[in-house]
Amino acid sequence: MTHGAMVESLVGGRWRAGSGRRLPVVDPALGEPFAEVALCSADEVGEAIGAATRAAAAWRRVPPGERIQHLFRFKGLLEQELEALAQGITRECGKTLAEARAEVRRGIENVEVACGMPALLQGWVSEDIAAGIDELMIRQPLGVVAAVTPFNFPAMIPLWFLPYAVATGNAFVLKPSERVPLTATALGRLAEAAGFPAGVVQVVHGDKQAVDALLDHPDVRALSFVGSTPVARYVYARAAAQGKRAQCQGGAKNPVVVLPDADLEMTTQIITDSAFGCAGQRCLAAATAITVGEASGRFSEALCARAAARRIGSGLDAEVEMGPVISAESRTRIAGLVDQGLAAGARPLVDGRRAAVPAHPRGFFLAPTVLGGVAPDNPLAGTEIFGPVLCLTEVPDLDAAIRLVNDRAYGNMASLFTSSGAAARKFRYEVTAGNVGINLGVAAPMAYFPFSGFKESFFGDLHAQGRDAVDFYTDKKVVIERWPKEWSRRF
Ligand code: NAD
Repeated sequence: MTHGAMVESLVGGRWRAGSGRRLPVVDPALGEPFAEVALCSADEVGEAIGAATRAAAAWRRVPPGERIQHLFRFKGLLEQELEALAQGITRECGKTLAEARAEVRRGIENVEVACGMPALLQGWVSEDIAAGIDELMIRQPLGVVAAVTPFNFPAMIPLWFLPYAVATGNAFVLKPSERVPLTATALGRLAEAAGFPAGVVQVVHGDKQAVDALLDHPDVRALSFVGSTPVARYVYARAAAQGKRAQCQGGAKNPVVVLPDADLEMTTQIITDSAFGCAGQRCLAAATAITVGEASGRFSEALCARAAARRIGSGLDAEVEMGPVISAESRTRIAGLVDQGLAAGARPLVDGRRAAVPAHPRGFFLAPTVLGGVAPDNPLAGTEIFGPVLCLTEVPDLDAAIRLVNDRAYGNMASLFTSSGAAARKFRYEVTAGNVGINLGVAAPMAYFPFSGFKESFFGDLHAQGRDAVDFYTDKKVVIERWPKEWSRRF
């Protein structure tokens, strides 16, 4: 088996292959490896942290207005390379090119927001908190910060962190998913080309060993994590035990509630796009449609028709609306969960488990699946599937729908489809989810809002993006000054 290119890490301004295990990078549409990634050992991660520590000492002294010049160049390069980045994402992650382009665009928005850092970093001053005494709050960078990211948004999620971390004056170490290492490597090359000094942006490829090395190193002050809930919980606890700041985004099982007064066309289009876009591998994907009262029959039928009509295939094919899932194991896991849901009483309204894409017989394809009658006690009702499976549940009224949403362990997103303002306000007010959509299927916050998440979907307090990122990456130093006025008479 030929593996093609070896994917290297960027440590201390040099690209080099890690000395640890080598893993194949697999094209999910072809089901074949096309590159190999060399994982870093704990010692190599330690080297990166050492280089970051040295770089951070000088970088914090670079005025914010100069630091962001590197980000402006980085943004220009991201724009210039958008198509190449999108092609790379489709190749290693499987999503369609349109989805990959949109992902890069959402990533670039974070660079744009971080370019406003000189203003975002401003502190406060109170004159005369007592006679002749002033108090200031100054934000200062932490030093070395790191992010550990998942496979499903290989460009966007690293960009939730990198621009803010460096614009606030920190050195940043990225540990991307070992399943999609090429996009992170491309981001590292663009950061290098943007002129960030060696050690300010580093990329270390690795697995749990590399993550533990970041967690246990005393010089890493803060760690951002995005991935599944069990790992998020583990990372949060281990980071806290070491006295680190941590923000850990976990899994999801997002409910969308449909009231009878919702617009049939628009609602079913939006829900199917949300459920089956990126093959359901989105932390904001609609996973359960809760239909209220008489919405149940009409909306279920229309959702099934749209799901069954979705064209699957390679994400590089412009006609295709849904690409493969990330791996053969993922496909087996998803099909197994569907089996369990059916055994517990769900009905297979659209069954995509035996999808065939003749042009790519070895690809990891599943077609959209819709399961009807997923009762609240069905194990699937609260389980993240992370694949193209939409569960349908019927409830008598909005109160019952909100209770169902709030009873669930996850709290990433909840959406309501309705034409009633009063229902929308009640929903927005009462649901325990961090990102709420009204007539929206993927309520993904803009870069200048926090990417929220409640309950088992988030461990921490400060979220990714925007002002929360500024708070996360800085210490607030408070200075209280007394300059007795009689001293001024000396001059
Ligand atoms: P994952 O948890 O398997 O991996 C995420 C990262 O953690 C990777 O970099 C991986 O190398 C590392 N990792 C894996 N196991 C580890 C361990 N035992 N110890 C330390 N590090 C470990 O997640 P994934 O499969 O790459 O991504 C899918 C998951 O991410 C889904 O659950 C999805 O909901 C979630 N996700 C959440 C958000 C959000 O904003 N809440 C966004 C995207 C994805």
